[in-house]
Amino acid sequence: MRAQCCVVGGGPAGMMAGLLLARQGVEVVVLEKHADFLRDFRGDTVHPSTLELIAELGWIEEFLDLPHTKMPRVTVNMGGRDVTFADFTRLNVRCPYIAFMPQWDVLDFLAGKAAAHPSFRLLRRARVTELRTERGRVTGVLADTEDGPVEVRADLVIGADGRHSTVRAAAGLAPVGSSPPMDVLWFRLPRRPEDQVPFFQGGQGALISIDRGDYWQIAYAIPTDAFGELKAAGLPAFGERVARLAPALADRVDQLDDWEAVHRLSVRVDRLPRWHRPGLLCIGDAAHAMSPAGGVGINLAVQDAVAAANLLGPVLARGDSPSRADLARVQARRERAARITQAFQLGILRDLYPRDLDDDTTRHVPPIFTAFRALPPLRHLMGRFIGMGVRPEHIASPPAR
Ligand SMILES: Cc1cc2nc3c(=O)[nH]c(=O)nc-3n(C[C@H](O)[C@H](O)[C@H](O)COP(=O)(O)OP(=O)(O)OC[C@H]3O[C@@H](n4cnc5c(N)ncnc54)[C@H](O)[C@@H]3O)c2cc1C
Repeated sequence: MRAQCCVVGGGPAGMMAGLLLARQGVEVVVLEKHADFLRDFRGDTVHPSTLELIAELGWIEEFLDLPHTKMPRVTVNMGGRDVTFADFTRLNVRCPYIAFMPQWDVLDFLAGKAAAHPSFRLLRRARVTELRTERGRVTGVLADTEDGPVEVRADLVIGADGRHSTVRAAAGLAPVGSSPPMDVLWFRLPRRPEDQVPFFQGGQGALISIDRGDYWQIAYAIPTDAFGELKAAGLPAFGERVARLAPALADRVDQLDDWEAVHRLSVRVDRLPRWHRPGLLCIGDAAHAMSPAGGVGINLAVQDAVAAANLLGPVLARGDSPSRADLARVQARRERAARITQAFQLGILRDLYPRDLDDDTTRHVPPIFTAFRALPPLRHLMGRFIGMGVRPEHIASPPAR
């Protein structure tokens, strides 16, 4: 198979990059190892900056017709005290809130829009296993598909295959890591309309509860590698921990009757010193794996995709292969934003999460939280940082005629 650009991974970074390149008339193949987008471990947050991009593309009304809930402020509850630490309401954008929307809906939406471009192809159940190189330049990939191996040759390969990226490993691009701050246990409990459950609850552990209509999607943060200890104590003891943090759910934690329903997600924070080599560019988590803290990873992945499409789309559309300098420009544009955001996740937000299983997170509320209570402008500033990111991108390239 031949394409001008082969995107590996159909997550937020890969789907947005594929869509924006195809929109410029670039022949794109996106290879996604799964059959659909229905996996549940991706995060549900669509930030004001991503909503603004969708508005710039002219699709915001249609997008907001998909089921979602709006969060104009992020409020955490630490030991009975609510602290609003990010306020989006003063952002000068069309949608000054986070939209909580299951990520499969977001990715299906982007895939639908991309499919309208004849130069776009999405191959599902296509797991990339190897890179093809010629004289030190990446010239394509090899993927396992249902119909056997497929080789895709391309002027540019974009590695958007997430935090366990095969592409970056195959390219010899080694990440520098920061110690993983936590693991996340991910499960559901039924939701009733009268439930009062804060979005973020600190205490003995930390609980994030996402309203998905008839159920709560819950993330329980634990210290890295503490799952074994938790499991050994048994499911009833785990249910009690959850109920202590969310008393409204105490009457149904016993519905967690099988550890199979509790998924452990490992968190990783790392970054590539160099995001590219000739013929290849990594973006999103493949270039800088983000923790869930602050819910900013999806946003950052999308911003990388927009920058890559803005800078490389015109080069590819005129039939050229992006040069080393072209690829370096994408990294130069996005790297600072990624580093600052990771520092924020590992610094300010770290203290919101437990250091050991019995740690009471309310005892080490980050000192800056006192300032958030007293100074509303700080909440707006944080709203800008979380909602828009460090360097918000805009759709710069015109669609192909
Ligand atoms: C537990 C947890 C919760 C999180 N919650 C949030 C949140 O609420 N909000 C937020 O903003 N961020 C959240 N994050 C961070 C966020 O998930 C990432 O930053 C974001 O998904 C990065 O997008 P991406 O497109 O770069 O990678 P991914 O979303 O990881 O997408 C990569 C895609 O590549 C595919 N793929 C992988 N390998 C191959 C291969 N070899 N061949 C073909 N396809 C392949 C995968 O199937 C996947 O579809 C969370 C992270 C974790 C760990």
